[in-house]
Amino acid sequence: MNHDSLITLSDIYKARKGITSIVGRTPLVEAPWLSQLTGAQVFFKLENLQVTGSFKIRGAANRLLNLPQAARERGVITVSSGNHGRAVSHVAGKLGIPVVVCLSDAVPANKREAIGELGAEVVVVGITYDEAAEGAARLQEERGLTMIHPFDDPLVIAGQGTIGLELLEDFPEIDTLIAPLSGGGLLSGIALALKSADPAIHVIGVSMERGPAMVESLRAAKVVDIVEEPTLADALAGGIGLENLYTFDIIQKYMDDAILVSEEEIAGAMAFALHKHHLVVEGGGAVGIAALLYEKVEKFGQNIAIVISGGNVELPVLVNIARDYQTAWK
Ligand SMILES: *Cc1c(COP(=O)(O)O)cnc(C)c1O
Repeated sequence: MNHDSLITLSDIYKARKGITSIVGRTPLVEAPWLSQLTGAQVFFKLENLQVTGSFKIRGAANRLLNLPQAARERGVITVSSGNHGRAVSHVAGKLGIPVVVCLSDAVPANKREAIGELGAEVVVVGITYDEAAEGAARLQEERGLTMIHPFDDPLVIAGQGTIGLELLEDFPEIDTLIAPLSGGGLLSGIALALKSADPAIHVIGVSMERGPAMVESLRAAKVVDIVEEPTLADALAGGIGLENLYTFDIIQKYMDDAILVSEEEIAGAMAFALHKHHLVVEGGGAVGIAALLYEKVEKFGQNIAIVISGGNVELPVLVNIARDYQTAWK
């Protein structure tokens, strides 16, 4: 069954109305070096500046605000590569909802600690995202909790789609969107918003070469399992769920191009963001910059927005990259 038509522009407007008290509107800033490189106008949408350090607060807020009272009292559970767990914990804390977050051993310590500080019960299960997801499903049943899925949920997708509304308002000339792609909640929501306004807007998703689950699935024309590998873009790690209901269909329908970037390119993009823009961007948040900086985008228009999706990088990692890649992007 095709589910993509079940989420509409009006769901995204409804999401925005609900979440404004919890979620900040993020700045859109010029990227003059990338503009010069491409001959287009390039802007960054700074989701790394959200209070939880990533856009995931948008979907988490929309999902939890729509939870019935009885379910709020029983509590919620989630599985995460880190940023979604932090967002759910932050919003649940504001709403007084008990929360359990399942993480794999591969989630960086800074992300695990931030979730613990927000008062969530942190359960570390397995060494990959998919193993943590299985653990979360078991615990959900045992304890009668509500699962807050990180991407494959209409309310989560609509929440992430509010980025698209802000882009249309702040940058009405937009003709090209470049955003990170993992489970596809981010790109689904934004693409639904942008393509409703103008189907000609070119939508590009960027994943890392190491374990790009959605891209492999699109190539196979069905959801496939991938082997999770260590990557600087840890926020993009993990499968898209063999029982995927929404994002696979939506991405298949609305994404125009997919691009893969290497670990070197991700590191170079993180260093570029820090040195040239004074922005702290994590690996998963930097893949859109990498795609443009290393001239991997073949087709784009004159007005490009790149979503900088998160900034939760461990500082020693960033410091090393900043030292090693001072001019590597040139
Ligand atoms: C979760 C996440 C993504 C990918 O979002 P999906 O909806 O899973 O595609 C990209 N960047 C960051 C920083 C994230 O936390």
